[in-house]
Amino acid sequence: MIQWLKKQISSRKTLDSKMYIIVLIIGTFTNLASFIITCVERLDPAAIISTFLCFVAMGVFWYLSVAKDMERYLHLPMMIIIIFILLPMAWFFCGGIRSGMVFYFLGCLFLVVPCLEEGKKRVIMYLVSLLWLSGIIVFSAFFRPDLVTPLSDREWYLDVLVSMALVSAGIYFITSLIVNAYETERKSKEALLEKMEKLAKVDPLTGLYNRREMFVLLEEKTEINDGKHYLIMLDIDFFKKINDTYGHLFGDIALSTVASALNGNTRKEKGEFAARYGGEEFVALFVCEDAAEAESRAEAVRSQIFEHEYEENPGLHISVSGGMVRIKDYADLTAALSAADSLLYKAKQSGKNRICQ
Ligand code: GH3
Ligand code: MG
Ligand code: MG
Repeated sequence: MIQWLKKQISSRKTLDSKMYIIVLIIGTFTNLASFIITCVERLDPAAIISTFLCFVAMGVFWYLSVAKDMERYLHLPMMIIIIFILLPMAWFFCGGIRSGMVFYFLGCLFLVVPCLEEGKKRVIMYLVSLLWLSGIIVFSAFFRPDLVTPLSDREWYLDVLVSMALVSAGIYFITSLIVNAYETERKSKEALLEKMEKLAKVDPLTGLYNRREMFVLLEEKTEINDGKHYLIMLDIDFFKKINDTYGHLFGDIALSTVASALNGNTRKEKGEFAARYGGEEFVALFVCEDAAEAESRAEAVRSQIFEHEYEENPGLHISVSGGMVRIKDYADLTAALSAADSLLYKAKQSGKNRICQ
């Protein structure tokens, strides 16, 4: 039974739909409890009948919602029936102000908020309900107190106790559900945003920063002109031929291999990074004490790429050509990149598989 009820709540997607089911569950149990109490306490037959009718009404709602899949039409009718028919009936038959009915009034007014999705409808429903229930209290106090079936003091206390427990439990569960739903949504939004931010910065094939992020990272580096920052631009040799001969899938493997060799030679703790600049072109930022260190590190990258053994094509050696510049020697980043590109061209012209400085 509990599992079935849990399933009913969790299968509902929207918050107002979940609320509706919770209201139905609470309403069913409340009315069943009231019916049993009125029977046990041998109250007025009218009270017994009215609580029984309330319970039956809840059953009808269950039937229409679950068996007939009519839930979407029932949110407002349920609120109307509860507030405008069931509550007044219960008020007059179950002790009026000298009972726990005020708790039910309060609980049902609270339920209008989460049960009705649309803001304007909700405000109107709340105000009309408040007015109606206030009217019931005033009517029974000043005009027809005789219509209220009185409870004995003991019944009154017992009713206050039961209704306080039931209504507070309902409010507690609904508030928890709202808070939990809000938290879940906030967390999933945050995770999605994080994922999207990462996707916007990273090239999906190689996992390196993309060209746009490369410019962002370079431009935000304040110490870039300290004479220790070097740009290295690499381009895979004969890549078109590699693609044509071994297929694009293998071409992608080669791209990833070159990318991870370059990336593995960057020292993140020093602010170095690698990026995919274009199709089969990469750029990395190195921080080196002098040109000799920069040259030997670039050479290490080149030879590591060339020495790599591809499982898919044993004996194949893929090379890269490159150009390397010290950023400080150029007017700005664009000039430095363009100079690295010219040096790369020079490396291609002079036989490939080399890095020109
Ligand atoms: P060079 O030695 O002068 O650099 O010649 P190349 O063939 O490497 O240069 P070219 O610019 O003619 O060819 C680059 C090729 O890279 C063409 C394009 O199909 C391929 N390419 C670009 N991006 C990708 C990719 O993401 N995956 C694969 N498999 N191929 C790519
Ligand atoms: Mg190429
Ligand atoms: Mg190219």
